[in-house]
Amino acid sequence: MVNQHATDLIKEPYWWEAARPEGQIGDMPESPSDVVIVGGGYTGLSAALTLAKRGLSVTVLEAEMPGYGASSRNGGMIGNMLKPGLSGLIDMYGPDKGCAIYKEALASVAFIRDRITEEEIDCDLALTGRFYPAVLAKDLAGMTRDFEVRQKYLNIPEEMVANGEYGEDVDSACYTGGLRQHHTGGLHPGKYAKGLATAAIRAGANVVAPVRAETITKSQGGFMVGTARGEIAGRHLLLATNGYSGALSPFVQKRIIPIGSTMIATEELSENLVSSLFPTKRMITDTRKMLSYYRPSPDGKRVLLGARPSIFQATPEQQAIALKKALVSIFPQLAATAVSHVWSGKVAYDFAALPAIGEHDGIHYAMGYCGSGVAMSGYLGHKAALKILGDAEGDTAFDGLPFDGRFYYRGTPWFVPVAMIGYRIRDYLGI
Ligand SMILES: Cc1cc2nc3c(=O)[nH]c(=O)nc-3n(C[C@H](O)[C@H](O)[C@H](O)COP(=O)(O)OP(=O)(O)OC[C@H]3O[C@@H](n4cnc5c(N)ncnc54)[C@H](O)[C@@H]3O)c2cc1C
Repeated sequence: MVNQHATDLIKEPYWWEAARPEGQIGDMPESPSDVVIVGGGYTGLSAALTLAKRGLSVTVLEAEMPGYGASSRNGGMIGNMLKPGLSGLIDMYGPDKGCAIYKEALASVAFIRDRITEEEIDCDLALTGRFYPAVLAKDLAGMTRDFEVRQKYLNIPEEMVANGEYGEDVDSACYTGGLRQHHTGGLHPGKYAKGLATAAIRAGANVVAPVRAETITKSQGGFMVGTARGEIAGRHLLLATNGYSGALSPFVQKRIIPIGSTMIATEELSENLVSSLFPTKRMITDTRKMLSYYRPSPDGKRVLLGARPSIFQATPEQQAIALKKALVSIFPQLAATAVSHVWSGKVAYDFAALPAIGEHDGIHYAMGYCGSGVAMSGYLGHKAALKILGDAEGDTAFDGLPFDGRFYYRGTPWFVPVAMIGYRIRDYLGI
């Protein structure tokens, strides 16, 4: 069964079966909070946890439910790659600053591993590693150049894998080799979001949902945030809204580019079949411009795959068909496998293609993870909290990086379909 026209296709994240964001929680506080955080994803919850543990009164305002945004929709793949690569960072900022930025991507993986352990968050964390297969020989050559730069400057536990030698990573014939990393892996994103919310609340944070922050005004003691349930005052304000930012802050709106990403899960398969496809349970991200990322589910019974969605508006059924096609191009063995779930979420890019953390007009922000925020968002949420606390540990190599708008962008990413057409053509032609 190909399931292309199944009526039983579930149009919400597979992750929600075990960890659905739901319920109405928290109460609007009557007195001012030390810190108001807008956005209850990994960034906001991580910041809330750090602040509450240090004794500050914290209110998180979440428009839907904690984790409802990208944080319960992602692939759960923990990574430390930054879009420009180490060589790109060195070209832009020189070796010292470039390496310092990259080291923080590595630090983010260790940070969330430790936080998950300390807070006893049961989220199927498994540091089984990651494999980046190259589709074209030229992709492999580029990957090798970047790998050599990383080896020269940083001692990362990773290795290049030649064609024909990646059988332990993935059982697919469509690659020319790739890069294997040992220190990353995966988790269950929905359980991680729920666990983080529970930890923040346990530490004393007031997480209020559903309530949307609608306005921000400056007041004598800090900020007033307007909602349909009344105003709330905070000495400090942190925006942690990433791809769901909307028009709340014109400063953010002109700088953050929301982009959709879609995932599918297959029906339950035999564990033998799934482990034959992923013998070492590594997370996989290939080099197609439209990007396929895929993995076994934590229980080893399904395959999950994500990619950039259709260029133009498409129904979930159409998206499921397109992603199933991508899945079968990698694993022809799954041609008769049904898709059980399809869902989408929004990632956030900025024009520097690097995470953005800082303060504008007294308002803190942390966002723009460019589709790789499972580790980085928790890490930068924590850093933003330390900045609010005035703790020097809040300093990061991401401080002061460009976070600029463009004259042609006011919050509607009209150019994304144009870029995607270009990517599709390049993938199709193999250039
Ligand atoms: C399909 C998909 C797959 C992905 N796969 C991976 C992956 O495998 N690995 C990886 O590293 N990254 C991945 N990512 C990216 C990763 O999920 C994000 O970088 C990360 O979750 C960002 O967390 P966040 O808390 O900053 O944002 P979000 O989780 O998006 O949270 C923002 C929250 O702000 C709330 N909000 C917005 N405006 C307001 C308002 N005005 N008032 C109140 N609340 C508001 C929203 O409701 C939302 O819950 C993926 C993303 C998607 C969508």
